[in-house]
Amino acid sequence: MRNNIIHVDIDAFYASVEELDNPRLKGYPVVVGGKSENSIITTANYKAREYGLHSAMPIFMAKSLCPDVIIVENRRYRYLEKSREVFQVLKTFSNTIEQVSIDEAYLDISENKEEPIYIAKEIMRKVKKETGLTVSVGLSYNKFLAKLASDWNKPNGMKIISQEDMPDILLDFDISKVYGIGSKSEKKFRNIGINTVSDLFQLSEEFLSENFGKMGYELYDRIRGIDKRVVTPFRERKSLGVERTFKDTRDKKDLFEYIDKFSKELYLDLKKKNIGCNTLTVKLKNSDFETKTKSKTFEQAIVEYEDIKNISMDLFNEIYKNEKLRLLGISASNLTDLKAVQLSFI
Ligand SMILES: [Mg+2]
Repeated sequence: MRNNIIHVDIDAFYASVEELDNPRLKGYPVVVGGKSENSIITTANYKAREYGLHSAMPIFMAKSLCPDVIIVENRRYRYLEKSREVFQVLKTFSNTIEQVSIDEAYLDISENKEEPIYIAKEIMRKVKKETGLTVSVGLSYNKFLAKLASDWNKPNGMKIISQEDMPDILLDFDISKVYGIGSKSEKKFRNIGINTVSDLFQLSEEFLSENFGKMGYELYDRIRGIDKRVVTPFRERKSLGVERTFKDTRDKKDLFEYIDKFSKELYLDLKKKNIGCNTLTVKLKNSDFETKTKSKTFEQAIVEYEDIKNISMDLFNEIYKNEKLRLLGISASNLTDLKAVQLSFI
């Protein structure tokens, strides 16, 4: 069975949300960014792009290129909310969805009964209808090509890359467009006169693997339309936590040490997984096996060790009545994938 993969990318996401919430912005050059002159643009709408404005550009530079630019401050929670709405729609098309960032996803639709083109069109129509946002969609038989395709006719565009289009469709591409070529290897290629995919085609598998290692092998395959990466759904975690049973104690020094230790463990675990939490819960079990819990939810995601520790300490003090404890736990819930938030410079 042939693989059918769709890459979906929300058009000028943050700026589009701002236009949606404030229609008077429509038709004007709008960028989303920070307050200060030195902060950077996170998204420029298409009007602003006509002036050469783009994400990662400092605000002062944007103002000099386009004095009339309207600067709107980042509203991360609103974007997360809209992102969730879009993903709710995407979930109705496939169970195999890989969220790449706040505004980007791969869907494996190989198992679907409907025609892939019909699904691609329906995704565009339904996202627009349900959320007011437009997306661009790329349809192909692997991830690399699906992503290239979604970038083809932005905004509100669709592109199909089929096996028959390969490799001709790629030959004129600059090597920087090829997934896996970072700035270091890009430089290396340019030094030996390799600037386009067509140039890359001249290199043998041996040459590529000897000079570029594992990535060399992958590149050799990739430009020939072979990309074995599968669409991997992110399993949404409900909570993360640390809890432990110990010898019954009411010694506050011991208990505070546990809170400190567990806070640090939880902090490191969240950090490793690049997750923030909006809710913290402290759980106690006393020597009679009675359990008490206390939670608090915050508008801002909690990520720092000091915050986790201080909040846990407060929650503990609210419910601890000097009884002997045999278990203590701290857990984080309402989790936010920080990777998805940080990767949003598109
Ligand atoms: Mg986007």
